[in-house]
Amino acid sequence: MSTTAYCLEPFMEWIQTKNPAEPEFHQAVFEVARSIIPFVNEHQKYQQACILERMCEPDRIISFRVVWEDDKGNIRMNRGHRVQFNNSIGPYKGGLRFHPSVNTGILKFLGFEQTFKNSLTTLPMGSAKGGSDFDPKGKSDREIMRFCQSFMTELSHYIGHFTDIPAGDIGVGAKEISYLFGEYKRLSHQFTGVLTGKSLEYGGSLIRKEATGYGCVYFMEEMLHEKGESIRGKTCTVSGSGNVALYCAQKINHLGGKVVTLSDSDGFIHIPQGISDEELDAIIELKTFKRGRLAEYAEKTACSYFAAEKPWGIECDLAFPCATENEITKSDAALLAGGGCIALAEGANMPTTQDALEVLRNSGILTAPGKAANAGGVAVSGLEMAQNSMRMAWTTQDLDSRLQAIMKSIHQQCTTYGRTNGYIDYVKGANIAGFIKVADAMLAYGIL
Ligand code: GLU
Repeated sequence: MSTTAYCLEPFMEWIQTKNPAEPEFHQAVFEVARSIIPFVNEHQKYQQACILERMCEPDRIISFRVVWEDDKGNIRMNRGHRVQFNNSIGPYKGGLRFHPSVNTGILKFLGFEQTFKNSLTTLPMGSAKGGSDFDPKGKSDREIMRFCQSFMTELSHYIGHFTDIPAGDIGVGAKEISYLFGEYKRLSHQFTGVLTGKSLEYGGSLIRKEATGYGCVYFMEEMLHEKGESIRGKTCTVSGSGNVALYCAQKINHLGGKVVTLSDSDGFIHIPQGISDEELDAIIELKTFKRGRLAEYAEKTACSYFAAEKPWGIECDLAFPCATENEITKSDAALLAGGGCIALAEGANMPTTQDALEVLRNSGILTAPGKAANAGGVAVSGLEMAQNSMRMAWTTQDLDSRLQAIMKSIHQQCTTYGRTNGYIDYVKGANIAGFIKVADAMLAYGIL
């Protein structure tokens, strides 16, 4: 550990040696370290306490076996994890991801990002992430239910409404949360707000499912206002077709923008005149309730469909990557710059590679990192926790204005710490602002 000034390269070497074969975690730490290090070096209190090293080490990682029975009676096994990253400013909080790519390296990257994101929301939430390499694709409802029950049997030992409150992420939506909550309730004999993203009838919050997408658009609107512009009349490319992408598209429409693309892992649809509210409702129905693919939608409606491609070659003013990590590579970023894009807001977590970020920065494209732009989801999770504690439910209007106020405050924090020579470096601003609150809490606790 270092008590002298930090240097980026040796610090990253140390991270890589301590965390071998975890490229996404290295990438997330690099992005934070490069903006935090100059700041930490100017503030002795952080430097002396080795806060940076301590923030890069999760409090604990729990891994467990998940055994379940498929519909044919075969015994199946997956691995489950919960990375409890940092609880300095509140109980552990973060989603669960069910996807074949899940491993502890991915969850460490997501948990690390969550530390800064949750801090930026202004709400008292620590950070965590969990999940499994279980693939919900192609599984029946009963199989998903049995998997969730088995997963919760073990996870239930480590969570609680004052300790760790999981929620959804990729592959974990309202249905999975319901199965997980039901099992926790059965095992614990308690009805507490131990998960967020619940359905409305048993303690869920209005606008939780829309919150990440809506919040991302509110953040973009704040970035544009800063330049004297707005979303109205702007052409927008959106990737993904999960909750984040779909409600991001819906809010762009509400604010008078034009959404021309949506994608899934098989390809993307392109509707040059803009996806209408009615078309979007049909896509929401197909993706959310029927687990359909965009290729089916394109076939039914005869809209343009590009198999095995990403939407970044389509000309746009604004880009919203809402699919998954590292979906925008260096060449995609060059396409965006060439296509006239002026701003990008990350609906997904770390959808932009390090090289791509460099291209966006050099092209003057305003870039909002996921930890700021997609914090609306976990922010409304925090509001769900507050409502559960009060045994009350707020109205849509109330929640939406709280969400807007939170996104405004995150934007303001980013500009406070990210403004350099007339350009706002949102990545730097979000990292420093998110860091300060957690670091100060850690300092207050002394050496632990
Ligand atoms: N998975 C979401 C995120 O990446 C939401 C987490 C939560 O609501 O706890 O922020």
